[in-house]
Amino acid sequence: MSKLLEKIDTSFLNAKNIQLYIFRDDINTPIPNNPHIAGNKWRKLKYNIQKAKEKNHDTLLTFGGAYSNHIHATAAAGKAFNLKTIGLIRGEEHLPLNPTLHFAIQNGMELHYLDRSKYRLKKSSEFLEQIKQKFGHCYILPEGGTNNLAIKGCTEILDDLSLQADYICCACGTGGTVSGIIASSKKTQTIIGFPALKGNFLTNEINELLQNYQNFIPKNWQLVNDYHFGGYAKSNTELLNFIQQFKQDYNIPLEPIYTGKMMFGLLDLIKKNYFPPNSKIVAIHTGGLQGFQT
Ligand SMILES: *Cc1c(COP(=O)(O)O)cnc(C)c1O
Repeated sequence: MSKLLEKIDTSFLNAKNIQLYIFRDDINTPIPNNPHIAGNKWRKLKYNIQKAKEKNHDTLLTFGGAYSNHIHATAAAGKAFNLKTIGLIRGEEHLPLNPTLHFAIQNGMELHYLDRSKYRLKKSSEFLEQIKQKFGHCYILPEGGTNNLAIKGCTEILDDLSLQADYICCACGTGGTVSGIIASSKKTQTIIGFPALKGNFLTNEINELLQNYQNFIPKNWQLVNDYHFGGYAKSNTELLNFIQQFKQDYNIPLEPIYTGKMMFGLLDLIKKNYFPPNSKIVAIHTGGLQGFQT
């Protein structure tokens, strides 16, 4: 079995007759000795970087919050692939910089801050025009990095997975990653997304992403909306304790924004007999550990 596929072995899962694996895309690094090029944010960047190079861009410009995994990944990838990077950060500058933004600067990213009302307009054509005026001809990545090329990158996650799973689980923000997984899955597999945000908008978003990407919306997926813990970046002691215990038991680090919520939810669903006996389940570890130290 691939080193990246770890079986979770416990009496609880044995009693339920469930086989559970974690696919460690968080440490699946295509560049030796560069641990920052890994996880879903790298998957989403890969073909965008290729495209930027093809079109002779020398700068990537993107958006994110002060703790954004996407900002972190874009800075690291820019450095690794010789592209300048500009990050437009939501809110005001706080000094000293937090570890995410400190890392971004160390990797050569130029940071600018946008107040929240301005940040909200970041998709408008006027705003994008202003950006062109100010920063020149940059390759622009949306917040969170989701676009068609990002989805294409995420279709490759399952290529690296040697196991035929019945269920594949993934944490969701914008839904770009899970869309790639859905697009590359077999009809006999069921993909389960665990939204990290509150609200029921994500089903529509994923439908739209899949429609735009491949003109076809497969039916073999579902979202479980019960494990957002109050919304994006919200958490509680139960979740933090779970993450700590999980690290102790299996030596696999999770974080409270995405992967912790997914694993908590997945184990809870198993407890509640959501999956038929003999199911083979793979949870995708999408990374995201940069902003979280236990
Ligand atoms: C961003 C992120 C996600 C969500 O990815 P989307 O493509 O936006 O749905 C999941 N897990 C981790 C660790 C992330 O950083």
